[in-house]
Amino acid sequence: MPLKLPFFLARRFVAAETLDNTLPVIDELQAEGLHVALDMLGEFVDDRSVAAAARDQYIKLTERLSRRADHTGLYGTNISIKLSMMGQKIDERFCEENLLELLGVAKERNVFVRLDMESTDVTTSTLRLFERAYEEYPDHVGIVLQAYLKRTRQDVERMCDLGARVRICKGAYKEPPAVAYQRMSEIRARFIDYMKMLISDAHYPGIATHDEEIIRATMAFARAQRIDRDAFEFQMLYGMRPERQREISQGGHHMRIYVPYGEEWLPYYTRRLRERKENVWFVAKTLFKR
Ligand SMILES: Cc1cc2nc3c(=O)[nH]c(=O)nc-3n(C[C@H](O)[C@H](O)[C@H](O)COP(=O)(O)OP(=O)(O)OC[C@H]3O[C@@H](n4cnc5c(N)ncnc54)[C@H](O)[C@@H]3O)c2cc1C
Repeated sequence: MPLKLPFFLARRFVAAETLDNTLPVIDELQAEGLHVALDMLGEFVDDRSVAAAARDQYIKLTERLSRRADHTGLYGTNISIKLSMMGQKIDERFCEENLLELLGVAKERNVFVRLDMESTDVTTSTLRLFERAYEEYPDHVGIVLQAYLKRTRQDVERMCDLGARVRICKGAYKEPPAVAYQRMSEIRARFIDYMKMLISDAHYPGIATHDEEIIRATMAFARAQRIDRDAFEFQMLYGMRPERQREISQGGHHMRIYVPYGEEWLPYYTRRLRERKENVWFVAKTLFKR
């Protein structure tokens, strides 16, 4: 039996271990005027039946969110999915079938599905699957691009040509210098370039960062270009800079919170800890405060 760490460790970054316990968290965020993207935690699987089960869970999640929106009147919740959970590393064709089945339901239920971007062994495959899905479901599927990758300028240009919905972020996986910029100043400068390209030429991009320099650059660019605040959104992770999330939203910008939930929280949680020293301190304090 694998080691199971207690959930209280992850509570700052992960809404709950079950969907039932996550829904009240979504209600609270929406009541404050924040938008939500729900992420059922999990990473790559190498078994077809597990991948098919993940697809079915995503479908159930889509149906549940749509029924809940009919009840509350609060529409617009997105789901964020990982293709590696739906069999991408087993057989791309099988993954495509799973994705298209999910998107069929998402279209019927009017739920937007974002394909998270994972490590570079699947970047090309993820973009290929996105383009296939986008042909059929342009209003219900979006992609993520990572500013730290050296290839990303071309991918941004391609998504601008398609008019696709892109989330731009720095990139969270450890990648070698051959494929990814390593210096924060360089990654940040590229992020700002891509933000400008996407806001100008793509469709409703998500600017996903907690980095104040990029947030301010985005606001300044939109102001200078007289770009409507409805033309893009900011995105942040649940539990990261919560006061700033509300401040940005109250200032009249769209702010979407990426809300992870589920029992498989450990890899997600570990990435968040690696990113910022103070997160590690936060966990240390939680451990001792019990
Ligand atoms: C909504 C969302 C979705 C994402 N999806 C993906 C994905 O699909 N694939 C992927 O690879 N990665 C994804 N990421 C993760 C992303 O790639 C980065 O790893 C992560 O966001 C950290 O980078 P950052 O730009 O937020 O700022 P960081 O590099 O963490 O921080 C830079 C600067 O921001 C400021 N700052 C940050 N946090 C705080 C704080 N708590 N208080 C005060 N100042 C602070 C500080 O000035 C800091 O120096 C996503 C991120 C978000 C927000």
